[in-house]
Amino acid sequence: METLTNSPEETKALGKNLAGNLAGGEIIQLIGDLGSGKTTFVQGLGEGLEIKRKILSPTFLIRRSYRGRLNLEHLDFYRLNSPLDLAGLDLDDILGAPKTVVVMEWPERVGLDRGEKAKKIYFEYVDENTRKITQ
Ligand code: ADP
Ligand code: MG
Repeated sequence: METLTNSPEETKALGKNLAGNLAGGEIIQLIGDLGSGKTTFVQGLGEGLEIKRKILSPTFLIRRSYRGRLNLEHLDFYRLNSPLDLAGLDLDDILGAPKTVVVMEWPERVGLDRGEKAKKIYFEYVDENTRKITQ
């Protein structure tokens, strides 16, 4: 399904909508360039999961964890260069956590995009206010 969004709010609404279909245990991979709206989408998803804290980009931390109706593990591998860089992260624990949705930005930086378990959502910059989101 392909959607054009014309504002950050519309992208958040898509994320919020997806949250309503989640039960925990899902792995969602967001694929697209810098500024294509991935983190914005996660902010809406977090709202849909009833997470009260503000969702910030985890780029510099790699991982941010939130509690809500379901917990959210928000991972961002932009700064990593290879699967070896995942060594310090308890990925099995994160992926196996109960009542938790795992969302990853830049899974391709660490070779995690090749798994089949994850739902992939693609983001494309169209123009300043428009993004194409394919899920
Ligand atoms: P990414 O995580 O993919 O690097 P961000 O979500 O952090 O991207 O940033 C997207 C930027 O684009 C934000 O500054 C946001 O305000 C802006 N923007 C403009 N139009 C849209 C849109 N339709 N959807 C999402 N973000 C948009
Ligand atoms: Mg981001």
